[in-house]
Amino acid sequence: MAQSHSFLDSLNAAQLRAVLHEPAVPLQILAGPGSGKTKVLTSRISYLILHHLLPPSSICAVTFTNKAANEMRERLSKLIGKQRTSEVRMGTFHALCARFLRKFSKVVGIEGNFTVCDMEESKKIISGLLKPYNDFLASKDITLKDGTVLSFISKAKSKGLTAKAFVAEHTKANERKSSSDFDPQDDIQRLVGKIYHEYEKSLRRSNSLDFDDLLLFGVKLFAEHPPATSWCRHVLVDELYVASCTSRISLTAIGAPTGGCVTVVGDPDQSIYGWRSAEVGNLARMRKDFVGAEQIFLEENYRSTASILKASLAIVSQDKSRIPKTLLTSHPSGPTPVLRAFPSEHAEAAFIAVEIKRTVAYMGGVLRWGDFAILLRFSALSRAIESALQKEAIPSAVLGGHKFFERLEIKDLLAYLQLVDNPNFVPALTRAINVPGRGIGEKSITALIARADKTHASPLAVLERIHDAEQPDIRPAVKGKVGGFVKAVRVLRKLANEGASPPDLIRRLLELIGYEDHLKKTQPDWEGRWENVQELITFASEVEHDVNQAGGDLDLLGPSPTSDSDTPLRLFLQASMLSSEGDTQSDEDSKEKVTISTCHAAKGLEWPVVIIPAVEQGTFPFYRTDDVQEERRLLYVACTRAQSLLYLLHAAKRKVGGETKTKDLSEFVAAATKEHATIFTPRAAQFVPAERAVVARVLGRPEAPAAEVARRVAEFRKTARYLAGEADDAAQPAVAWHPALALPG
Ligand code: ATP
Ligand code: MG
Repeated sequence: MAQSHSFLDSLNAAQLRAVLHEPAVPLQILAGPGSGKTKVLTSRISYLILHHLLPPSSICAVTFTNKAANEMRERLSKLIGKQRTSEVRMGTFHALCARFLRKFSKVVGIEGNFTVCDMEESKKIISGLLKPYNDFLASKDITLKDGTVLSFISKAKSKGLTAKAFVAEHTKANERKSSSDFDPQDDIQRLVGKIYHEYEKSLRRSNSLDFDDLLLFGVKLFAEHPPATSWCRHVLVDELYVASCTSRISLTAIGAPTGGCVTVVGDPDQSIYGWRSAEVGNLARMRKDFVGAEQIFLEENYRSTASILKASLAIVSQDKSRIPKTLLTSHPSGPTPVLRAFPSEHAEAAFIAVEIKRTVAYMGGVLRWGDFAILLRFSALSRAIESALQKEAIPSAVLGGHKFFERLEIKDLLAYLQLVDNPNFVPALTRAINVPGRGIGEKSITALIARADKTHASPLAVLERIHDAEQPDIRPAVKGKVGGFVKAVRVLRKLANEGASPPDLIRRLLELIGYEDHLKKTQPDWEGRWENVQELITFASEVEHDVNQAGGDLDLLGPSPTSDSDTPLRLFLQASMLSSEGDTQSDEDSKEKVTISTCHAAKGLEWPVVIIPAVEQGTFPFYRTDDVQEERRLLYVACTRAQSLLYLLHAAKRKVGGETKTKDLSEFVAAATKEHATIFTPRAAQFVPAERAVVARVLGRPEAPAAEVARRVAEFRKTARYLAGEADDAAQPAVAWHPALALPG
């Protein structure tokens, strides 16, 4: 009976057991990377729908990143078709909470048109709140950055601590200390408590929630308001172990009404968000939350060659506190992972570019640009690499780095639309009012907000009154300045109320404020920015299309208890705020480009070739970490993204923050190679026929014909000629060491 679904045929015995597992008994799947956890999850969803006949809209699938949600959506579409996939409530913890908070906002005491405040806006608010304390901080010789305060607040929120509780907890901790351990940190903590309190007030006044609030308020909603979760029959969570503590609580809350129909998958070895208060080794917690949870272990890795798996395991198993796990692969050994030193970051970058070219040539059509990923500990490491790739004319795209929605031009336009949707959202007003420049200074804006607070009106309403001459004490010059702004907002509001589509609203906005001209006048690279504006319009049409396809989605829950429901504009704004780069890049596009990503953002993804630069002390582990084992797991996550070729690179000298520093190889790798001398080699693959065959087999692609390989190699050798002369450091040319690159004559 079960076997009548053909997608079950491709599962191994343990995977099949997990998919067929009784839906009413909570299930925990624990397994290493590449063992098919995500595959099992998508198969289980399909089985719940096709065999147990659960309506797709009664299933909730949660992932950690948008990219992972997209990947899951894509895999699921192949199994159950696009229509049914679109009905499954799938998304990140944040996106799911946001959707339900819109619908049931009043229950948790917020307005349905709340705006999601992103990190940049949060930092701006905090920086404003810190201003009055600048002298105090300077007098104590303390530097306190807005980002630092925000991360304190975020940590407190992810533990579920309110501002009041934060201060109380801190005071308690101090009482335990004796007076002799006076700590200058106390001043900081006290101040952070104050700022936290003010920050919350400021968010509420703006009718906005930051990312952490989405989870906090979501948890509250799910826990206290049964109708918000009554639709749910089964919750499935991918990557439970990267999730924060609050996300896990919210899972419990969503899961509660299902009577324990919960499936979670995770790998404690890949827990990399400890700084977001996730805790490793917390298997017990879920078993307590969901009594009787069964565990299934998957032990076969389908992603990587045996040699990649061996090197990765050698790195992670240096953590002696780790629970040992079996992870096997039936794939052949394949080329040994490369570990290679370079004199400088430029030599390293040059190597990366040429090695990508060489590999593509020697694989004769089996690999393309999109099969390569360069995974970085932090995104600032990408600069030298990006220019080296550019020099070699290799197209690349940054994933999860500088986000599309964080770009100036995108934020400018979104600010107007946010203001149309939520006139209380101060950060949007502050931004939009001077786009294009209207010479309205900080003082005027502060006065405006103060007046709004006094009259219990939104700052925008106050501004409109000023404009309409209801305020005789305002100078005509000021009125003149705000004229264009007020007009634009009014036109847009009217259109939005009439149900205009977001792409149309954006087009109208561009006309109203003369945005193209503004970009031309103010931005030297305006053409690229104008392209991004067009991309925003495309994104808006896609959101519209998705919403229509999903058939109104939350309408299935019956009439909303709040008066205002989801407008097209609101849905678009929400999608933008919770998006990441991956969403605005088509898959066709990414196939043609080398991916540059942080290791964090690469979680759950896979590539045929993975290159990890800067595997050095200070980078791995990162010098500011307070959890070395988590850094080790992060390197493990990065290594296990690789299917057939893996490179770990490091430089003897690297420029960091304008200063050239001497660098040592990462202790993680040094320790692993001390114990297992042969897991790495300094020599990259020769790509003899046997090696080519393994790579093709692991990727499930046909082997390259010999003639094609020869043609591409000859072509590559022609262009590789310049390398000897142009290598960054003459003492150790970037690639000339490789016999395949020996130049004729
Ligand atoms: P990660 O921990 O990195 O998220 P994962 O456990 O979720 O990994 P998947 O991404 O589901 O692993 O699977 C890794 C690769 O192995 C995918 O390409 C998948 O299609 C393949 N795979 C998984 N199970 C099987 C199987 N039984 N037969 C063939 N291929 C499989
Ligand atoms: Mg996965």
